[in-house]
Amino acid sequence: MGKFHIHPAVLEVARIFKQHHKEVYLVGGAVRDLVRGKDAKDWDLATNAKPEEVQAMFRRVIPTGIKHGTVTILYRGLSIETTTFRTEGTYSDGRRPDTIRFANTIEEDLSRRDFTMNALALELPEQRLVDPYDGQADIKKRIIRCVGEAAERFSEDGLRPLRAIRFAAQLQFSIEPNTLAAIPLALPITAKVAIERVRDELDKILGSEQPSQAFRLMEATGMLSLFLPELQACRNVEQKGFHQFDVLDHLLLSCDAAPRDKLVVRLAALLHDIGKPAVRAKDELGIWTFYRHEEVSTNMARDILSRLKYPNAVIDQVCHLISVHMFHYNDSWTDAAVRRFIVRVGEAALEDLLDLRRADTWGTFGKEPPAGLNQPLVDRVHRVLAKDKALSIKDLAVNGEDLAQLGIPRGPVMGRILKELFETVLDDPGQNTKETLLRIAQRLHEKLT
Ligand code: ATP
Ligand code: MG
Repeated sequence: MGKFHIHPAVLEVARIFKQHHKEVYLVGGAVRDLVRGKDAKDWDLATNAKPEEVQAMFRRVIPTGIKHGTVTILYRGLSIETTTFRTEGTYSDGRRPDTIRFANTIEEDLSRRDFTMNALALELPEQRLVDPYDGQADIKKRIIRCVGEAAERFSEDGLRPLRAIRFAAQLQFSIEPNTLAAIPLALPITAKVAIERVRDELDKILGSEQPSQAFRLMEATGMLSLFLPELQACRNVEQKGFHQFDVLDHLLLSCDAAPRDKLVVRLAALLHDIGKPAVRAKDELGIWTFYRHEEVSTNMARDILSRLKYPNAVIDQVCHLISVHMFHYNDSWTDAAVRRFIVRVGEAALEDLLDLRRADTWGTFGKEPPAGLNQPLVDRVHRVLAKDKALSIKDLAVNGEDLAQLGIPRGPVMGRILKELFETVLDDPGQNTKETLLRIAQRLHEKLT
């Protein structure tokens, strides 16, 4: 019995390789996670079998990246990525390797990998650990260290510096000093990396416990100015009054406080005040003001997220949240005001906006905000939602068909009447009965014609 818990289906797959006299190793994040005492997330294998040989060994194999020697074995519900041992040529365009060459040994394969913690292999099925760069020791010390000369490894692939920073936030590891010092020098190469690869790393950063750790490393190494100069411009932008942090620290704290599993809210928290440096002005009393910063922030967020090639659905949701993030609730709001707020935000975005508000407040205090600061609004919104169902025109007790029967022609006139009826119901949901609304519609129609 080996010392790590390996999925039984993976062990079965490994035995099949052995029956064909091929070597097979568990590699990448799975070995790293097992050595850290965590469960493996996905099972990536490396083998000396060629892709066609793997295809011949198993019934269901998808040629996911034949050019790179990668196929995916589908086995008992698992998708097992299997890559033939290889070495990599240089990345002369900084984007992808120019040439791929198959290698003969696992040691050669491990030598192309980025960090010592990622250059471990576990031979299967017997579980013999191959660790030529003492990755185990670095994992124990929680250190991210390049395999070989950092500057050289970064010049081969400019994404590696960002991967180092991403892993630092994801694993709460520190970056070994030589590796860290090589990052600023590699930025011209990092600048050439395909933006989709950068965005994938940003997504992983935003899914980590404390994204601010990564953004602070990006700032310290100059990478923030490269990919998110608008964020860097928020450094030292002071805001007086109840704010104790500059705009950048406020955004980073807010981002950390947003729910980890909601990318949209994390992005909105990170960018919600991004327009503040552009609109900052002093009033007559010499106090900083940021009038209409939510509009400028929304536009800037759209530019930034488009540049990073986020899907349009993500961009739209983030920008909507930013555009409605400025509201000042107090208990003098009438139920009608709460209903109008819900309609303006949209029910679909409501929970996200409340999350953003909680994150924003956290980012203002730098710690758990005083109890009860946001709860009254949350409770109020939920109470109104539970009580009043008519929060969009289609929830009205009458529809276009009913109005047409009154002789109201379809088109702009009917549209205007429906809108008036909706306003009426927002003010007083008690009016949302067919009888009442038809009576009001009749009167409006007479007035309009
Ligand atoms: P996770 O899947 O949690 O992000 P991982 O370590 O599995 O972590 P992957 O991006 O899935 O990361 O890559 C798998 C392995 O491939 C890595 O562990 C590393 O050995 C190697 N690798 C990935 N990207 C690079 C790269 N840009 N340069 C060198 N080696 C890399
Ligand atoms: Mg992986």
